[in-house]
Amino acid sequence: MIRDIARLTKRKFDLLVVGGGINGAAIAYLAAAAGASVALLEKGDWACGTSSKSTKLLHGGLRYLEHFEFDLVRESLKERFIQWQAAPHLVKAMPFVVPVYKNDPRPLWMVKLGVCFYDLLSGRSTLGRHRFLSFEDTLSVAPGLNPDGLMGAVEYFDAQMDDARICLENVLMADLRGAVAANYVKVEDFIKDRGRIAVGVRARDVLSGRAMDVFASTIIVAAGPWTDQLIAKDVPHAVRRLRPTKGVHIVYRTQVSSSAFLLQSHKDARIFFVIPFKGHSLIGTTDTDFNDTPDSIEATDADIRYLLQEAGRVFPHINFDASNIITTFAGIRPLVADVGAPSRISRKHVIERNASGIYFVMGGKYTTYRRIAEEAVSKAMPQLSLKTSYAGPYVLYGSGGNEELKIISRRFAVAMDLVKYLQGIYGSRLVDVLELTRGREDLKKRICSCSLAIAAQVIYSRDVEMAQNIDDIVDRRLGLSYLDCPAKDCRRAIAEILKT
Ligand SMILES: Cc1cc2nc3c(=O)[nH]c(=O)nc-3n(C[C@H](O)[C@H](O)[C@H](O)COP(=O)(O)OP(=O)(O)OC[C@H]3O[C@@H](n4cnc5c(N)ncnc54)[C@H](O)[C@@H]3O)c2cc1C
Repeated sequence: MIRDIARLTKRKFDLLVVGGGINGAAIAYLAAAAGASVALLEKGDWACGTSSKSTKLLHGGLRYLEHFEFDLVRESLKERFIQWQAAPHLVKAMPFVVPVYKNDPRPLWMVKLGVCFYDLLSGRSTLGRHRFLSFEDTLSVAPGLNPDGLMGAVEYFDAQMDDARICLENVLMADLRGAVAANYVKVEDFIKDRGRIAVGVRARDVLSGRAMDVFASTIIVAAGPWTDQLIAKDVPHAVRRLRPTKGVHIVYRTQVSSSAFLLQSHKDARIFFVIPFKGHSLIGTTDTDFNDTPDSIEATDADIRYLLQEAGRVFPHINFDASNIITTFAGIRPLVADVGAPSRISRKHVIERNASGIYFVMGGKYTTYRRIAEEAVSKAMPQLSLKTSYAGPYVLYGSGGNEELKIISRRFAVAMDLVKYLQGIYGSRLVDVLELTRGREDLKKRICSCSLAIAAQVIYSRDVEMAQNIDDIVDRRLGLSYLDCPAKDCRRAIAEILKT
């Protein structure tokens, strides 16, 4: 995938998509696959906004059942299954244990009823059936759990995914279907015909500073938490349409348990997760109103304290301590404005058309991105036939491929554990990465002792996956920033490889 800025100004596109998070990427993919000429502009790197800051779950959302959002849960469970089939290398079914304590806000009978409903709603899209766990069963599944006041537990299934890479694979598919996709291009304003109908955007190449005009018959803005900023460029003084809320995660050194847990906070009755993640534990999330600019988000000491205290209550044998935090990350939920506590606001999406003809995508969950994209393209471009664009299963960049891993290992003379590792990131495209090592033994070398990642992946990130800098590679292409790197050598090593 080549970042060719000149191609953006050479023609008028059928569709211009603003925002290269998961929704914008999928909209561009579906429209391009249906035959439209598409431009996709992202002001930072692909998925640098909310789409790399999620809890990394494709889930129905057990907790939405208590708000009676049955349609949202049913749709999410179906989408979870579609993505699991499309990208088994990036989406893994995972059992979740829900231990229930005497003073928990939701009693055991309610949680049991919830998982029964959950499985019923998933129908044939199931990833595994729930089971009820007695006090003894719960402690044998998760020996580190606090036994005081434990009433029992349930186990149900959801899926863990790589949010940044699923987004990237949608961009790569859009590119494959002919879209012109460019990261680090910021949309600064809309161009309007006689001040009324939007016909294009004024944009800036963030890397060179060069300004440019990009024209299109239809514009869809999928700017996540930045949507209100772009609405204001279209309609100055417009009422805010979003209720942004902040969510913070901690990557904690050591794997608290081999199980994933859905837990109930005693401080504010919210639900939060402790999930095995790259050999460590992902703990999150918080959910608080956020009224600052989306570019200034960060985890505060209070966010971290909240998560460590709540996790510490359930796992008393672990002395949760801030010094064992590998990294934190914070994202903004671009929720549609509503009243009530942040965690009670619906995760449903809305697609609105302004008088200028610009479509704005708001709200939603990562899990339902394909449905959101389908609806956005159908609304904005009813002339396209999406049915023919991907008849059959949803396909992502690393989908398919049935060459045996053993044969690949032999063909490229690399160890089996490396082949498995690469397959877990690139799916069937692992072969493209290994092709780079032909005649370049140096590209088979590990980047750093903290992971199995090899030098060829750095080159592939730059030349195929449009990474523009070391952060793009470390954070979103290879996910190295989540790892415990004692040598702290990844960045320096990557800089060296990029010089070759
Ligand atoms: C803490 C947290 C946990 C979550 N966990 C889950 C989960 O486990 N499962 C789930 O299903 N959902 C989850 N979600 C929700 C999910 O992550 C979001 O719904 C989804 O990522 C939103 O994607 P998006 O494309 O709309 O927004 P974004 O990913 O934010 O993309 C918008 C993009 O637009 C770009 N942009 C903005 N302005 C401009 C401009 N002027 N020019 C060009 N580009 C621009 C931004 O840089 C950004 O990359 C979570 C959200 C949060 C915050």
